[in-house]
Amino acid sequence: MADAALIERLKNVRGVMFDIDGCLVISDGPAGQDGRVLDGAIEALRYVRDSGRVLCVFTNGTAQSPGDIAAHLRSMGIEVGDEEVFTPSVVAATVLKRKYPDDQIMVFGGPGMLEDFHKRDVNLVDLDKAMAGEKFDTKAVMVGWDTDFGRSKLQIAAEALLAGAELYCASDAPFFASNNRLNVGVSGFIAAGLEYVSGQPREVLGKPSHYSMQVISEYLGHASSEILVIGDDIMLESKMARESGAVAGLVTTGTSSAEDAASCAPEIKPELVVSNMFELIDLLTQADASPHAKGITP
Ligand SMILES: [Mg+2]
Repeated sequence: MADAALIERLKNVRGVMFDIDGCLVISDGPAGQDGRVLDGAIEALRYVRDSGRVLCVFTNGTAQSPGDIAAHLRSMGIEVGDEEVFTPSVVAATVLKRKYPDDQIMVFGGPGMLEDFHKRDVNLVDLDKAMAGEKFDTKAVMVGWDTDFGRSKLQIAAEALLAGAELYCASDAPFFASNNRLNVGVSGFIAAGLEYVSGQPREVLGKPSHYSMQVISEYLGHASSEILVIGDDIMLESKMARESGAVAGLVTTGTSSAEDAASCAPEIKPELVVSNMFELIDLLTQADASPHAKGITP
C-alpha cells in the first residue's frame, strides 16, 4: 500500500505528462524509432483518459515533428493525438513568439524543429541568405536537433550572439535512454559550443525548464500542482515537476534507477517511483478508490 500522503496528492491530479523515451517506449533512436512499447504504457494512457483526466506526452527530442512522433506512437499502439505531443520546438515556438513578437529569430534544426515555428508564423532569419553574407538582425538564437550544423552555421550564430542575441537550446541533456546504448544529444552539444565561442550563456527551453512546465500546464488547463509528470530521467522530469510543484514520478525503465532516486538531492527527488507503468495504474487506482476523490469519473 502506498503512502497516504502520496495517494492524497494523486487524488488531486487532473492531468498527466508522460515522457516518451524510456517511459512509454524504448528504442535505438529518438521518440521510439525501431523500438518497442514498454510494459503498461498503452494501458496507463487508457486508464488516465478513462479516469477523466487529460494527458500529453513530451519528448526532449527535436529530430521529428510532433505530428510525425504521434503517427509513429500510434503505429506502435500508443493512442495519442498530434496535439497531445510536445517537444521543445513547440515550447520554443510558443515562448519565443511571445517574448520577441516583432523580431526575427534564428532557428537551427531540421523539419522537426522548424514546423512549429512555421505553424505559429514566427519571423525567421533566412539562414541560406545569412550564410551567403546577407545582413540580418536577430534577438534570439534557438538551437535544436541539427545534424547539418557546420562551420557556416557556427559563423552566423556566433555573430548573432556576439551582437547581443540570447542563446536558447531545445535540450542540453547529454544522453537519452535507448535499447542498447545511450543516445548522444545534439542540441546541447551545439549550444554548449556556441556558449564557449560567444560567452553567451544558454537557456534550455525543453525539459526541465519552467517554460516547458508552463506550456504543458496551459495546454492541460490545470495548475502545476494538479499535474503528474512522469519519466525515466530524474534530471529532466522529476526536476521539472519538483521545481513547479507538480507531482514528480520516476519510472525505472530508462536512465535513472531506484538507487539514483534514493540518493539524489532532496529538492529533485521523485515523489513516486515505479518499475513500470502497470504500477502507476495501481497507484492511480488506489487514489481514485480512496474516499473523497473529487470530480473523477470512473
Ligand atoms: Mg526519457
